[in-house]
Amino acid sequence: KPIGRRESKTFEINNSEAKIICAKFSKEDINRIALISVHGDPAVDFGKEEAGGQNVYVRNLGEELARLGWNVDMFTRKVDVKQQTIVQHRNNCRTIRLKAGPIAFIGRDNLFDYAQDFLNSFLDFQKENKVFYPIIHSNYWISGWVGLQLRKIQGSKQLHTYHSLGCIKYISVDNIPEVANTRLKYEKEVLENAEYIIATSPEEERDMRNYMSSKGTIEMVPCGTDIERFNSEKREEARKKLNFKENDKIVLYVGRFDYRKGIETLVRAVNISKFRNDPNLKLVIGGGWTVGGSDGNERERIGKIVAECNLDNITIFTGQLGPSNLHLYYAAADCCVVPSHYEPFGLVPIEAMASGTPVVASEVGGLKYTIVNEKTGFLCPPKNNEAFANAIDKILSSIELRDNLAKNGVQRVTELFKWENVCIRLGKLYNKLIAEFLN
Ligand code: UDP
Repeated sequence: KPIGRRESKTFEINNSEAKIICAKFSKEDINRIALISVHGDPAVDFGKEEAGGQNVYVRNLGEELARLGWNVDMFTRKVDVKQQTIVQHRNNCRTIRLKAGPIAFIGRDNLFDYAQDFLNSFLDFQKENKVFYPIIHSNYWISGWVGLQLRKIQGSKQLHTYHSLGCIKYISVDNIPEVANTRLKYEKEVLENAEYIIATSPEEERDMRNYMSSKGTIEMVPCGTDIERFNSEKREEARKKLNFKENDKIVLYVGRFDYRKGIETLVRAVNISKFRNDPNLKLVIGGGWTVGGSDGNERERIGKIVAECNLDNITIFTGQLGPSNLHLYYAAADCCVVPSHYEPFGLVPIEAMASGTPVVASEVGGLKYTIVNEKTGFLCPPKNNEAFANAIDKILSSIELRDNLAKNGVQRVTELFKWENVCIRLGKLYNKLIAEFLN
């Protein structure tokens, strides 16, 4: 819960140099948090090109914090004139879409050009609405830059979640974008200056220390998931609702179509599985795409590999999954495969485990933390088709093993990744910063 309201202490914060804002901090502002997510809009449907884990994280964080008594505004960028400017999700939790540059989709590698516009719109919003945000929780490096400026301009306290680290990402891509050096510079500056950095796994924390800086305060607070939602359906029931047979062997992927997600490894692994010719084998690939978009191109590439392996007759591309069916697919599956080349955290495996479905995943990044090898699933070297095939086969061969892994998975998620507990931990950090702010 937010710390109690104290005697009104009013701050006049003037930045004569920037001449942008004169904010008044009042007691109503004490429990106010701005979650900044310039490119990850928390109010859109999830599961497409620019709507993955970050959007889900910000939205769930915002809603859960509001439930705990915080007043949360989630700031993102308006990309379509048809989008509502303000979306009210629940009491004390809104998405606010600011104008920054043209009202059109801009890929994240070109988005920093509009960060200054975003900052100006944020400051205007505060002024026009007579509100002030003592706490800024920024997400991804572009928002991190916005947070750094707000610290300087108006003394806000900043927490930052990276969602992806440039220093790691650029190791595994062939075309390094022009913005890379700027990104690396500000990622380091955020680490060294923000009040708290939220690492979502021990691995991410190690990467920050090894590749970025020894300065700065890092707290390890993982991402969370909605266990009630994902644990609401039994396997048999979910299969009936989705028209699968009771004895189908269902291998599931959920996520965006992105080369980094390694869907190719999954398809090739299924192709060499010992169940390859079992008439009950089903490869289910869940996630949306836009024809002509980068996810559309990856969907096309994967479609060609499926055809090349003659797997068309057992492969189902479900399209984008949402509130009505995502939990059913997780519950129906025998195993969920997360073959990413790199994954800073990965929400999909904890959603699958919460649903009672074991996970076969690459032994990288946050996956090494969320999945316990041979207890809640299997970890395999990334891009290793044979290793993935072996792990999938083990699970498909034994219902007893599947159910044991599943049971351990539910237990692990309940112990470590419940949103409410995650938000309570973050709330303690916010409270510390508000106390500092008031002193
Ligand atoms: N997702 C969804 N519908 C889909 C595909 C994915 O809602 O069709 C959600 C999925 O449930 C998860 C998120 O998108 O919450 C993906 O997050 P993750 O951290 O696994 O990957 P990222 O997208 O951040 O790379």
